[in-house]
Amino acid sequence: MRSRGRILIRGIVQGVGFRPFVYARAVELGIQGTVRNTGSQVEIDAWGEQFVSFLDAVSRGPPMARIDSVQVEPVEGSPPPGFTILRSTGGALSGLIPPEIATCRECTEDIFDSEGRYHGYWATSCVNCGPRYSIIRGLPYDRERTSMAEFPTCPACAAEYADPSCRRHHAQSIACPVCGPQLYLLDATGQPLPSANPIGEAAELLDDGRILAIRGIGGFHLACVEESAGELKCRLGRTEQPFAVMVTPEELDRTTCVSEEDRAWLESPVRPILVMPKQDPDSLAAVSNLHTIGCMLPYTPLHHLLFARLSHPLLIMTSANRPGYPMVTDTEEAVEKLAGSVDFFLTHNRPIVNRCDDSVIRDGFIIRLSRGIAPKRTRIDLGSRCILGVGPELNSNITVYAGGFAVTSPHIGHVRNPPTLTYLQETVERIGRFLGARYDVIAHDLHPQFLSTRFARELAADTGAALVPVQHHRAHVAAVTTGPCIGITIDGVGYGDDGHVWGGEIFAGSVPDLDRVAHLEEVPMPGGDAATRFPERMLYGILPGDGTRSLLAARGWDEIALGVLERQVERSVGVAWTSSTGRVLDAVAAMLGTCRERTYDGEPAMRLESLAPRGSAREWPLEFGTRAGRRTLSTRALTRRAFSEFTRTADLPLPDREKALAGIAASFQDNLARGIAALAITAAGEHGIPTVVLSGGVAYNRAIRETIRQEITGAGLTFLMNPEYPLGDGCISYGQCVWAGTMNR
Ligand SMILES: [Zn+2]
Ligand SMILES: [Zn+2]
Repeated sequence: MRSRGRILIRGIVQGVGFRPFVYARAVELGIQGTVRNTGSQVEIDAWGEQFVSFLDAVSRGPPMARIDSVQVEPVEGSPPPGFTILRSTGGALSGLIPPEIATCRECTEDIFDSEGRYHGYWATSCVNCGPRYSIIRGLPYDRERTSMAEFPTCPACAAEYADPSCRRHHAQSIACPVCGPQLYLLDATGQPLPSANPIGEAAELLDDGRILAIRGIGGFHLACVEESAGELKCRLGRTEQPFAVMVTPEELDRTTCVSEEDRAWLESPVRPILVMPKQDPDSLAAVSNLHTIGCMLPYTPLHHLLFARLSHPLLIMTSANRPGYPMVTDTEEAVEKLAGSVDFFLTHNRPIVNRCDDSVIRDGFIIRLSRGIAPKRTRIDLGSRCILGVGPELNSNITVYAGGFAVTSPHIGHVRNPPTLTYLQETVERIGRFLGARYDVIAHDLHPQFLSTRFARELAADTGAALVPVQHHRAHVAAVTTGPCIGITIDGVGYGDDGHVWGGEIFAGSVPDLDRVAHLEEVPMPGGDAATRFPERMLYGILPGDGTRSLLAARGWDEIALGVLERQVERSVGVAWTSSTGRVLDAVAAMLGTCRERTYDGEPAMRLESLAPRGSAREWPLEFGTRAGRRTLSTRALTRRAFSEFTRTADLPLPDREKALAGIAASFQDNLARGIAALAITAAGEHGIPTVVLSGGVAYNRAIRETIRQEITGAGLTFLMNPEYPLGDGCISYGQCVWAGTMNR
């Protein structure tokens, strides 16, 4: 039986307490030797009778580790006395950037232990939990390469760090009230308020209805109690946007319908925001006017301590930035940018190196890939070349592929303003440096005017990398599979091969050879982007004529504006043509009066989705056509049907009318989904491909997604989605990498 060896373990092995874990097993099993991080792997030299049991134990790793491979080589020489943890050394760094880990149970107990030295300490952590990516300046992950380097450990922390029997043995983020970062309370102008207990005072201020900016792990949140939600919306000028909340576990069960899958996510070390149905769709209306609400549980010691002091069980916790802009991270910047929006700041002096918003999940699908999940690493073979995917324009992130791994950054935002572009560039620089990447290929969106496209071109000019443009909706499909498939992409808008605005597309083939074989009927967007903001324009574009005209007139459109709209559509001037799924849903939301102006991303379609469950769907006839040899689904016919039902609701008494409107919303979604599925099923038959893939932001809509799934599987076809990446545009940078990698092989 083997009794010695060098064990090489590859995977996510840094920042997850791997070395202390190995040490503890070695001590248990009487193993002599050493363990060290070499950047890409953990290297263990081990001698002992129980080598085989030891190998078995370390091969499983600690809970947060992700192990790709375990290899055993011969080891030379004689064993050292005992077992030692050696210093980390550099090396190839293939994708080993640990994400944040929510406070573990033991640390939560520590902060409430009145006898312990961590009692009440807001930044308590251990090898199993705490900040990671947000504090990392360089790899390997050691304190000297994090923003914790500015806080030399006190003797007590140093002793725990060195004590192999302690949970904080080699915990790089170890800190206590004596040596660690401190919290401060500032007034609205950024002046420090002397306070012995900033958390206690912050809790009182919140209970009193004040609005606070709270600096967390990856940036600032705006926080207030439910009663102050209206005031916060007013100050931010975002009267309709739903806010996410942080709640106690009891409040969670009282207000929302939590599925088993949701609960597993909520309580996981990621602790993301979960978008879940409310128990009563009309409750918490000031926080969210949808039938759903985004909830998270406390995930840092600061949150736990705050909730222990608060008398309210629910806090609004929304990222302190304009939608689509980067999260505010520095205290000075926060004071400058949030002046007028907040009454107080609860901040600290631990620098945030890498910003990180909260991750958002719905029905097991990632909406925002960020804290706790990203940097997200996927093992995939895309060849030997190093690839950068710079993402699209909205809800963007970046992906770097090198040496068998694709690493996707946390959420970046809408790359359509200078601060977000700068953040994109910084992220490319930082993740690239962590991974030692030298780009051979840069993949970007087909849209020539996107800031991300221009950035890709400039970077390619500087580095000599090859450029690969990838059409938006094909990148969506590539993020799911490279195998032969019928790809359905349903989303807002993306630039098509023909320069038109695509968004309801059916492809056939396999990456990088996907033919557009069918799509939603193209309809005009009068005024281009203006039709996105004001969906009644979209409605008129789809259904021009007297009926829509008099509806808009009755809603206060003046004759001049109506005349302009009419001429735009009639002469096709100032009109973009689109096959977008989102825009059609917007138009119906506008028709039903659910949403006449879009004030945040996806609002009209989300309002329509919220209305639908109050009614029931009925089957409408579907009409198909062809255009340039491609099959199309007539969205005009569906909208016309919806409109004729809508006009019949005018005379109904109010409760009946509401139910009828909800029925139209439900029917429209259902029939649209059936039509899209029918296009895919026909394509599957024609091309002899039995697998159908679904992606795109509209697929977050549960009713639409499930109808498509049922139709596809009901036709005996295989239905595929990729829950590892967002269904929306957060999957594009990864899809771009996959596309470029597959092309080059
Ligand atoms: Zn812990
Ligand atoms: Zn200390």
